[in-house]
Amino acid sequence: MVKLKKIDHIGVAVRDLKGALEFYESVLGLKAAGIEEVETQKVRVAFLPVGESKVELLEPTAPDSPVGRFIEKNGEGVQHIAFRVENLDEVLEELKGKGVRLIDEKPRQGAGGARIAFLHPKSSFGVLIELCERKD
Ligand code: ZN
Repeated sequence: MVKLKKIDHIGVAVRDLKGALEFYESVLGLKAAGIEEVETQKVRVAFLPVGESKVELLEPTAPDSPVGRFIEKNGEGVQHIAFRVENLDEVLEELKGKGVRLIDEKPRQGAGGARIAFLHPKSSFGVLIELCERKD
């Protein structure tokens, strides 16, 4: 059975990572765990831990990137919800078997050393869902 362990993080698309970090750190009092560039996704990300979850700020490094296209279409805002799973390969197989439309049939490398895969929002009532397997 698919078993989601927790909300690993909520992904927020922003135009200006520096400006967004200023707000999340100075106003909301969170602290970024570092900034990382994921070249395959043309995005710069910062994770801000909060409780047992995180906020992931995503700034596109190119307009034709997934996050760039999201902002173009919807403006800034919540872009995806990431659920933690323990065995991503098995979960993907099971979802495939249930006819769920997947963006990633196989896990790929995400920020922070995680293995990730996205479900298509058409299969999940308009929400882009990321499944995330990581060690911590
Ligand atoms: Zn994410």
